[in-house]
Amino acid sequence: MVPISIEKFVNKHCKNNPEENPVHLRESLIQAVKDKKKGATCTNCGQEIWAIGSAVSHLGCFSCLTGETDSSQDYEIDEVCWS
Ligand SMILES: [Zn+2]
Repeated sequence: MVPISIEKFVNKHCKNNPEENPVHLRESLIQAVKDKKKGATCTNCGQEIWAIGSAVSHLGCFSCLTGETDSSQDYEIDEVCWS
């Protein structure tokens, strides 16, 4: 995955999604990062969660949230981007 900081992702996402509240998004991302560090797993398949997808949508891994298997072009928060 492509590492990105929380601040950079918030700016980028809110530019593309003007209805998104940056304060809420940032809080959700911080929470998702905490969850991932604690070893949270996808409720559907048991893989480690995708912090960005879990913040924007709901708790889950990349494959379950997007329906895709190739995550090489997608962002993940830098501090939990270990795969
Ligand atoms: Zn999954």
